[in-house]
Amino acid sequence: MSDSRRLLMIPGPVELSPAVLAACAVPPPGHLDARLVEAFGSALARMRQVWLAPASSQPFVVPGAGTLAMELAVANLVEPGDRVLLVNTGTFSERMALMLRRAGAAVREVTAPVGDAPEAEAVARALDELHGGGPVKALVATHVDTSTGVRIDPEPLARLAHEHGALSIFDGVCATAAERFAMADWQADVYLTASQKAIGLPPGLALVVAGERALSARAARRAGPPPAYLDWESWRPIMTAYEERRPAYFSTPATGLVLALDVGLDEILAGGMERRFADHERAAGALREAWRVLDLAPVPVRPRLEANTLSALRFPAGIGPALIGRIAERGVTVAGGLHPALHGGYFRVGHMGYVVQRADLLRRTVEAVAGALGDGGAAVDARAAVAALDRLGGA
Ligand code: PMP
Repeated sequence: MSDSRRLLMIPGPVELSPAVLAACAVPPPGHLDARLVEAFGSALARMRQVWLAPASSQPFVVPGAGTLAMELAVANLVEPGDRVLLVNTGTFSERMALMLRRAGAAVREVTAPVGDAPEAEAVARALDELHGGGPVKALVATHVDTSTGVRIDPEPLARLAHEHGALSIFDGVCATAAERFAMADWQADVYLTASQKAIGLPPGLALVVAGERALSARAARRAGPPPAYLDWESWRPIMTAYEERRPAYFSTPATGLVLALDVGLDEILAGGMERRFADHERAAGALREAWRVLDLAPVPVRPRLEANTLSALRFPAGIGPALIGRIAERGVTVAGGLHPALHGGYFRVGHMGYVVQRADLLRRTVEAVAGALGDGGAAVDARAAVAALDRLGGA
């Protein structure tokens, strides 16, 4: 990207890498085109690698956004009367609760104050209790809640679900390909995301990987099939065909985006997933130091809850939402608050995908935030903030 252009630092959509941009810049192929068939098949195999998922899992690529990915999981796996445990950490967990209830589930929620997350022990207790009354169909959680910047640890939750014979479903929309998630090792059943976050593409693709147990649960469904567009069984033969390098049709794929997906996943995998997670951790750690120097307190109440994909930052005393406009005047777009309980008292900076390897872009972001704070009357040391960022290797 050219340095004169506005820098997009919201928690999705995100800045694209030059290779992904180039892949997006070609005329979209037909869905039977050999190039598309190859890219589609290759992207599906790469999804398993990025998700650290078992060979037996099924990746789905469906035109739509993250909410569709959530709906795909719910519509296929949840039937009226199912007992579901929801770990609720914010706005996107609330959306999941709504979907689960509309699907007819009896939803038990485990919550925590805003900015916090329930401990695994509390989830275990709730699961035991719920399980006492009959089988639990699923445990559902949001890996990173984008409204608060709170990240949960999915590993103990996936294991707990497995021990109780329940499926585990994780919304990874603000996490997948940036925060550590090992679908096979943890025996997680569904991990879902959308293209416009840490995957590093434009919006437009719902991306879901379902494990064997989840696929069996769909096959064993008693309540009749889900709506045709949402039904995994509509899409599964298509995904299988493309992976075997045969064209197939159920509903038109987003062909241009699928080309870009293959390129984007290839970039993600280039250094290995451990490196990918570490890159996000390092950039987030460096930014955290800069925010500390600028007196910007995080919404998450404990360091281990702070996501590596975004910073949710409280406005300092005397500074309000006008700060966001001032940051924009300095060429950087950040996002406002989203969680209603925080009454607009914070803002959010996304840092996922391409930008985490661009120290210059992270620096531009810190400079814009520091400058805008200064414009608003705060006594800030912009140079010290940038130095803190650089010291921790924001690149
Ligand atoms: N879940 C999470 C954690 C999200 O951050 C978002 C989008 N911000 C969604 C779900 C919904 O995704 P979309 O806006 O792409 O429908």
